[in-house]
Amino acid sequence: HAKTAGRGRFAIFGKEMDTMLQQRRTLERELREALASETQIQVHYQPLYSAHEQKINGVEALLRWKHPEQGWIAPDIFIPIAEDAGMIEALGERVLRQACTDSMSWPIETVAVNVSVVELRNPAYAMKVAKILLSIGMDPTRLELEVTESALTDTAGHCEHNIKALRALGITIALDDFGTGFSSLGRLQQLAVDRIKIDRSFVHGFGNSTNDEAIVRAIIELAHAKGLRTTAEGVETTAQSDYLRHLGCDDLQGFLLSRPMPVKEVERLLRTSASLGAISTTG
Ligand code: C2E
Ligand code: MG
Ligand code: MG
Ligand code: MG
Repeated sequence: HAKTAGRGRFAIFGKEMDTMLQQRRTLERELREALASETQIQVHYQPLYSAHEQKINGVEALLRWKHPEQGWIAPDIFIPIAEDAGMIEALGERVLRQACTDSMSWPIETVAVNVSVVELRNPAYAMKVAKILLSIGMDPTRLELEVTESALTDTAGHCEHNIKALRALGITIALDDFGTGFSSLGRLQQLAVDRIKIDRSFVHGFGNSTNDEAIVRAIIELAHAKGLRTTAEGVETTAQSDYLRHLGCDDLQGFLLSRPMPVKEVERLLRTSASLGAISTTG
């Protein structure tokens, strides 16, 4: 009796697996088509604000996929597919070229681009970035690459070598989603990066988790002791931004300040805030 029930469950499970695999294969094929198209893959930009001045210090480039039938598909869905299906390098090159080209004349210090650990495992990655910047005429000190903790703990790959080479070119490296990976606070001392981005899960705990407040305070203090800059992700309320400012966090990113937006909109925003800045410094 138990056996037949078990077999029944297995049959259902098998069917679900089948559907899932089929959907996955379809998305994979459609992503390949999207990469070949001019319009489906887009780059949106989210401003990064100085915590202590009325100023936009930089923008983060975020990939967007406008699927012809399903509408917008989130990067958390299609990036892992691109990584598994050997498309992440093409996608990464696309976003890097686009972000550098779009931001050439923007009045900001840096444009930040996310990099997959799969890209960083390619021994030729740093050289590839250097060539792209050269072909566009982009100053490497204006580029920030966001890597995850998995890239810094990947002992088998070439990640560490690439990060060293990228920093030698003048590119800054930010550690994204800090606190969600395996690194301990202690390891923060040894990390060869320029900036720590504090994951939004800690910021959201403010007000109801003294633990999260203590963790963020410690991250900021340790980072500053090592000469690293700090950005808080996912700032959604004024209470959160006030507290982060009080803790000495350098930059703020989140829906409270700006959502990610298409290139035309971010250009309009940068024009407005640049002229506002000009008024406030002269007046
Ligand atoms: P991430 O690099 O940590 O990017 C920040 C994410 O937080 C973005 O999600 C952004 O829209 C979201 N966010 C910003 N402010 C807030 C807020 O106040 N509240 C909340 N709840 N969320 C906020 P998005 O655009 O969906 O991207 C998700 C992830 O996909 C990124 O996380 C990054 O890991 C990955 N990704 C995006 N673009 C690229 C890319 O070009 N290459 C690679 N390899 N990964 C990318
Ligand atoms: Mg990021
Ligand atoms: Mg992040
Ligand atoms: Mg994230």
